[in-house]
Amino acid sequence: MNLYDLTIHQSHQLLKSRQISSIELTRSALDHIDRMENKLHALVTVTADLALSQAQKADERIKNGDATPLVGIPAIIKDNMCTRGIRTTCSSRMLQNFIPPYNATVVEKLNSEGIVMVGKGNMDEFAMGSSTENSAFYPTRNPWALDRVPGGSSGGSAAGVAAGETIFALGSDTGGSIRQPAGFCSVVGLKPTYGRVSRYGLVAFASSLDQIGPLTRDVTDAALVMNAIAGHDPQDSTSVSQPVPDYTQALTPHLKGLRLGVPKEYFVEGMQPGVKQVMQAAILKLEELGAVVEEISLPSTKYALAVYYIIAPSEASANLARYNGVKYGFSFQDTDSMWEAMDKTRQYGFGPEVKRRIMLGTYALSSGYYDAYYLKAQKVRTLIGMEFARAFERFDALITPTSPTVPFKIGEKTENPLQMYLSDICTIPTNIAGIPGISIPAGFVDGLPVGMQILSRPFAEETLLRVAYAYEQATEWHKRKPDV
Ligand code: GLN
Repeated sequence: MNLYDLTIHQSHQLLKSRQISSIELTRSALDHIDRMENKLHALVTVTADLALSQAQKADERIKNGDATPLVGIPAIIKDNMCTRGIRTTCSSRMLQNFIPPYNATVVEKLNSEGIVMVGKGNMDEFAMGSSTENSAFYPTRNPWALDRVPGGSSGGSAAGVAAGETIFALGSDTGGSIRQPAGFCSVVGLKPTYGRVSRYGLVAFASSLDQIGPLTRDVTDAALVMNAIAGHDPQDSTSVSQPVPDYTQALTPHLKGLRLGVPKEYFVEGMQPGVKQVMQAAILKLEELGAVVEEISLPSTKYALAVYYIIAPSEASANLARYNGVKYGFSFQDTDSMWEAMDKTRQYGFGPEVKRRIMLGTYALSSGYYDAYYLKAQKVRTLIGMEFARAFERFDALITPTSPTVPFKIGEKTENPLQMYLSDICTIPTNIAGIPGISIPAGFVDGLPVGMQILSRPFAEETLLRVAYAYEQATEWHKRKPDV
């Protein structure tokens, strides 16, 4: 087995028993990045020097008997999380040369655990998109089929994990951006409950929906990363001061006594028959493992996409107002007036999808339309949340596909934004309700990955991990590697 194909817990064993060093592990990841990047484009920045110096420190730490679970493990951080002294671009021309003076809390936490950052993950510009094609730099390719998208917006993070450029990654999820690329790349992706993980230092897209989470090779690794990043942060007033459990305690191999609901609205029209078959087989497997599975109806699901495309752009239009060329980022200087400078900064700094969102949001919030759109969307948001809450009175978790389709071809949906928006139909309701969700490998259709999504009540990440782990241990999907 290649070093770069190991999981966190496998590498940890080898590091701790000093069979390998973090320097070796890191070199192997960096060499692999060197070989892969010209076809994959998963990274915006490779941080080789930093990685090697962090690896050296990690080795010293291990030598001193301080082998914490993530010490010495290579990671990719999505490029919308601030890294002190390392360019953080959001895959936008607006921030192409932005070097943050501070670390995001998650980065700070991972650093204190001793991780090794090998690079910053490519993404859709400002996390707006479902394919990583909205990156201002280049699209990332899917390691399972290089002519297909890896999903988005955390496409670089997911592709990097799947292709062996890193052992784990962080992504962010506003409407599916961790889970959908996890599904498309056959890795594990967990979006925590809103408030579980600090957003301090995450470049804001839609603040009431954004949440950071892990992309990993298996469920155990997801639990390990959650142990490191979850918890209250005085720097983020929306982070919740609920104690952080040891998530690895949730990893048990059976599902006896668990009640799982299958919401029929997630088996939408336009769902590929192959995806449906994979899901049917996965559900049978969950029953075999001892779960009681029943169908359930969540009728408000059909409003989720409309609600999201009012709320997310509204918040984005406010959050992105700060990019005016004055404080930081790209600044168009060659003009006579301040207003023209701001105009041109935004004209050249933002790509088309970001501009579309800003226009949608500004419109929805403008006087006369606010009540009809934004306020109405907030009301329906409450309904969707209540419907989930009712479902969780009967069920411990819900099972759905992560996406209605397998990864699509690069270019297939770029001309039609509405088609692109539809690829998140299964993941968006989760963010609207603030509940946690995970996507795990569940099978393949003609060699292309299919993800299964598991949802649960707020702060029940342990339930997600439990269901995910039992399924993973009973199947082999997570062991398949793309041939790149
Ligand atoms: N694809 C959705 C969007 O474009 C969700 C993106 C995300 O979760 N960041 O907004």
